[in-house]
Amino acid sequence: AFVLSGCGEGRGSGDATDAAAADGAGFAADAVIGVSLPQQTSENWVLAEDLFNDGLSEAGFEPIVQFANAGVGEQQNQVQAMIERGAEVIVIGAVDGAQLGTQLEAAHAAGITVIAYDRMLTQTPDVDLYVAFDNFQVGVLQGTALLEGLEARKAGASPWNIELIAGSADDANSTPFFEGAMSILQPKIDDGTLNVVSGQTTFDQVATAGWLADNAQRRMDTLLSGFYNDGTELHGVLSPNDTLARAALTAVDSAGLDVPVVTGQDSEVESVRSIMQGIQYSTIYKDTRELVAETIRQVQRAQAGDDFESNDTVNNGVQDVPTFFLPPVIVTQENAVEVFAGDPILEPVMSEFE
Ligand code: BGC
Repeated sequence: AFVLSGCGEGRGSGDATDAAAADGAGFAADAVIGVSLPQQTSENWVLAEDLFNDGLSEAGFEPIVQFANAGVGEQQNQVQAMIERGAEVIVIGAVDGAQLGTQLEAAHAAGITVIAYDRMLTQTPDVDLYVAFDNFQVGVLQGTALLEGLEARKAGASPWNIELIAGSADDANSTPFFEGAMSILQPKIDDGTLNVVSGQTTFDQVATAGWLADNAQRRMDTLLSGFYNDGTELHGVLSPNDTLARAALTAVDSAGLDVPVVTGQDSEVESVRSIMQGIQYSTIYKDTRELVAETIRQVQRAQAGDDFESNDTVNNGVQDVPTFFLPPVIVTQENAVEVFAGDPILEPVMSEFE
């Protein structure tokens, strides 16, 4: 069993020494670290792949970084294969955080540390740490930006007609995004400041399967032809991320309507350009470099046998998971240059608009 410490050979699953690795004993400094990411539904996931490969390698580990492009089944197989490869830590950005219980149980039985990355792993006791940007706060910032944007761009049109879009129901983030936004918007719906013309205000009514732009665009097309074909103006759209924001803007454009105030998230290059051109109103900056770096720091703590560092807890349905939250940042035309200063991808985009 002692082959493990410092020899870098990994270890067989079920080894008694391994169980200790997760709770204080540490593991080899060149251990295999598995990272299983979901589909590439936004640029943040694509960026994370290289950042994990480079960052984990630089830290001396042997990374296995994979996408589960085919969905839940592929991710289940991937995680299982990482267990068999002798990973000491498995970092997971889940396709569906509720569908990995069996694999996570096997991981824990093998003494492997499990970190939920960006998306919570739900309905399982077998997750050790959650590292993410504060998702509820993302929603609060989006709801607040929508109201500010309406005041700034549609002041004369109040009360305002809006529609709501949420993310994919299988992603544990989608609910806190939506609930955070509704914590700001619902009182304004109740007092008549905002009017959701379609009447679609529940999460189930407004969710977007798979976070797919096509699904959001199709729903917007239907709403626009059903409720806005008689001269009714659409003033605002709550969108949970940039991909879906652009889908909404495309639908509005094909319907020949004026550009509404549209929120977003992820600071994707195309949306950042759109914001600078005065089209999309806002986005959220969640610096993927920081999220990956923090995750790797936590892996290093586990390697050294130290405790994880957390600043919050999030209940995943069966336990309060120690959580390290980073703060999301709202971005509009006003502060984009300042926020993106130093970002290797976005600072150059800013210079296009000097
Ligand atoms: C992430 C968002 C992203 C979405 C779709 C969420 O879990 O937190 O940043 O826009 O997935 O990829």
